[in-house]
Amino acid sequence: MIPLEQAQAEVLESCRPAAAVEVATSEALGLVLAAEVRAPEPVPSFRNTAMDGYAVHSDDVAGASPQAPVRLRVVGTRPAGTAGMFSVGRGEALRIMTGALFPDGADAVAIVEETRTDGDHVEILAPALPGVHIRPAGDDIAQGQLLFEGGTVLGPGHLGVLSSVGASAVRAFRAPVVGVLSTGDELVEAGVDLQAGQIRDSNRRTLLSLAQRDGFGVVDLGIARDDEVVIERALVSGATVCDAILTSGGVSMGDFDYVKTVLDRIGKMSWMQVAIRPAKPFAFGTIGDTPVFGLPGNPVSSMVSYELLARPGLRRIAGHVDSDLRRRAIRGFVAGQGWRGARDGRTTYVRVVAEFAADGKLKVSSSGGQGSHQLYAMARANALAVTPPGLDIADGDPVDVLVLA
Ligand code: AMP
Ligand code: MG
Repeated sequence: MIPLEQAQAEVLESCRPAAAVEVATSEALGLVLAAEVRAPEPVPSFRNTAMDGYAVHSDDVAGASPQAPVRLRVVGTRPAGTAGMFSVGRGEALRIMTGALFPDGADAVAIVEETRTDGDHVEILAPALPGVHIRPAGDDIAQGQLLFEGGTVLGPGHLGVLSSVGASAVRAFRAPVVGVLSTGDELVEAGVDLQAGQIRDSNRRTLLSLAQRDGFGVVDLGIARDDEVVIERALVSGATVCDAILTSGGVSMGDFDYVKTVLDRIGKMSWMQVAIRPAKPFAFGTIGDTPVFGLPGNPVSSMVSYELLARPGLRRIAGHVDSDLRRRAIRGFVAGQGWRGARDGRTTYVRVVAEFAADGKLKVSSSGGQGSHQLYAMARANALAVTPPGLDIADGDPVDVLVLA
């Protein structure tokens, strides 16, 4: 057996970022920037008011109070989005709305709450200090400013900023397209009656969904029978249309594990026994340049194998440079009940529900059956409790947790 970290390192070694492409910002959520972005325009691009009110001369209203209001002549109204030819002289005010261009001449905003209209005049009831509630041009973003470095993962806020500077496209790494192939003579789809010995294919839906959740494109490569010719055809065609392939099943020690035979012939593969439970068997390699992840067939194993081994590699192809924060073990959880660690040197990933207990602690408890075929408890889990080999966890013990959702 090899440590998980060694298997992960081997995966990352062979996974290189996909091509950088020009992507419309409308399509860029979750993508990784391939180059830095500078601001082509300042934001805001003009001096404007942060409040509804009147643009005034601060000197005119310095002594204003409800008892001694200052009467100013209103020269016009300026909504947001308009300019108009206004300049504000002494004794004058321009009615302005939030976001409106701030007029020349004036230097202060008398907020509407502290005014009283009086025909074509306004009474100012409080002093207005120069500059307050005025947003200077470029006070959020200066023209030419470095906005985001290459490697930034584009989230909603980033895309908003890009929109605010008028950038409609960016250079980003293309999201990898991931092909998913199930293998096994026993597998059938929904809608077909189960014959003796058959089961329904669940891995394909799970793995396609995991890849989609992580922002990758997906191609359903179907179910391949335990037949070398069928498996080879599926893998070869998958490798031509996909940036990476996930297979499940056929990578352990069974008599009909032909995925292994085929991959050994058409690819360059490493067959690993990773010191984790579940998901010990794992194959990784390439067909041509296309990375192939041979995940175990048992449904929980294939999911855990995806989370711990395939996901880091696929993220690397997507251009991610950061360590995967969501897959880092987090301290500070407390076991709500006990369980046993493995006795064979493997780290156990216990399927757990993590939640805030009444005492404010983050408590984890088993989400159900822990067999590698028991997908139900994996579906209910929102975290995996990382249990070192040989360690038994008792109720109340601290545990490290990988948060899944
Ligand atoms: P294998 O690695 O092919 O020996 O498969 C290990 C176990 O996982 C067997 O019980 C298979 O029936 C099961 N299995 C394999 N592929 C799938 C799949 N796509 N969906 C659900 N179970 C599967
Ligand atoms: Mg099989």
